[in-house]
Amino acid sequence: MTDRIHTPYTFSEEELQRIKDNFTFHGDWEKVVFDDIKKNIVDHLRQQQGNTCCYCKYQLGYDIKQVDIEHIVPKSKYEKFTFNGKNLALSCPACNTIKSTKEVLKKTVVRYPQNSNHFRIIHAHYDNYSEHIDIVNKCIFVARTSKGSETITFCNLFRLSVIEEKVKAYQDINLNSIYQIVSNLSDVDPDVKKKLIDIILDTIR
Ligand SMILES: [Zn+2]
Repeated sequence: MTDRIHTPYTFSEEELQRIKDNFTFHGDWEKVVFDDIKKNIVDHLRQQQGNTCCYCKYQLGYDIKQVDIEHIVPKSKYEKFTFNGKNLALSCPACNTIKSTKEVLKKTVVRYPQNSNHFRIIHAHYDNYSEHIDIVNKCIFVARTSKGSETITFCNLFRLSVIEEKVKAYQDINLNSIYQIVSNLSDVDPDVKKKLIDIILDTIR
């Protein structure tokens, strides 16, 4: 497991100029003109993070919807940190969505903080993850520090043990046996049988 990002993304002169020319508010992050810059950021950070989410440490996928460029300090609150390399890390979309715009800074700042002390949660560039959180059986998150605890709460990392249990339950069940049991029910309308199978599958998914 990679503990932290050692080298933030460095923007080229041309990229900096493009940002200057096209960025006025945080919504501009979505502009097409920044697409290849974002691709460069993702490529760089995948290597730095060992292709894992900075919060839950799950493997990141390669499809565009399976990886997010996470703004550690939300760009909606601090627009000027939108393209700050130290504010960028990769996360899974779930952690990014759940963390949302929660307040990660202990107090308001003017310049981007240069060390870990200003942050309530694990900072992907400043903190060694394993000093703050132990991951047991790949899905149980145990806080070692208050930062670890805040990170678990911010991203609701408890959710992953539930997912792991569901995956295991799903793998353990022989789907054929479900069809067998349901189709053996006598005096049951075929449509009802189909619905029963759907209900059972929905429950274990
Ligand atoms: Zn994650």
